[in-house]
Amino acid sequence: MSEFSDKTVLITGGTRGIGRACAAAFAREGARVAICGRTAATAQAAAEEIAAETGGKVVGFETDIASSPAVDALVKSVTETLGPIYVLVNNAGITRDGLLMRMKPEDWSAVIDTNLTGAFNCCRAVSRDMLKQKTGRIINISSIIGIRGQGGQTNYAAAKAGLIGFSKALAQELASRNITVNVVAPGYIDTDMTAVLSEELRAGLLERIPMRRQGTGEDIAAAVKFLAGADASYITGAVLQVDGGLAM
Ligand code: NDP
Repeated sequence: MSEFSDKTVLITGGTRGIGRACAAAFAREGARVAICGRTAATAQAAAEEIAAETGGKVVGFETDIASSPAVDALVKSVTETLGPIYVLVNNAGITRDGLLMRMKPEDWSAVIDTNLTGAFNCCRAVSRDMLKQKTGRIINISSIIGIRGQGGQTNYAAAKAGLIGFSKALAQELASRNITVNVVAPGYIDTDMTAVLSEELRAGLLERIPMRRQGTGEDIAAAVKFLAGADASYITGAVLQVDGGLAM
């Protein structure tokens, strides 16, 4: 028996990358895991793969987290299918990089709507049940870009910095009900999101990482699992950088 046995965990995204690694980590511990993505077929296929890989229970849902009604419906379905949500991991995120002068308003909005409003939608939708249960864990995946900025990513940096402020405010609202809200800020992690970077940029990033390697989804999943677990029960409003020292 693990501390996550029979607990319900909702991870936004989860069809690939960091979210998928988080889903596998919780499924291995016996949790009932829900993942979501923008297309039903992809989400269901990923859930089946993770379940087969881990021997755990994983269900995939189609949801665009930027839509508040869609998120409300997701939380209702997850609760009905798997039981009340104990852990929420706000992981789903996108980039639409470009210099500010050339950034289209829709590229600004898409990133804010998914990366920041998406987390708001999910936290709001799960918080009522968590308050009733007087327990819960919310882990928001920000980025070191939200801490130190990055030219070409004003939209992404604003969303990720916003997520940190949002998490600290929400942590204060929920702390007395034994619900913790924490942030994981990954550095440079090997996923589809970073695979599109130029060779030159990747080499430059690697050189700046004191540990001289790119992080993995599993590196982030370990931090998420820690913050969701009993060993972190007195930690709330914290930002845990998992970046091989990149943002020092
Ligand atoms: P990927 O691009 O590999 O995966 C993104 C995930 O988000 C996919 O599962 C995708 O599902 C889902 N997703 C995107 N938009 C939506 C949406 N509107 N509704 C529902 N699901 C959505 O990204 P990573 O795994 O690299 O990143 C995960 C998180 O970690 C992001 O928040 C990212 O900003 C953050 N991060 C990543 C870093 C890195 O170096 N990779 C560094 C710092 C932070 P689908 O496509 O199936 O819809």
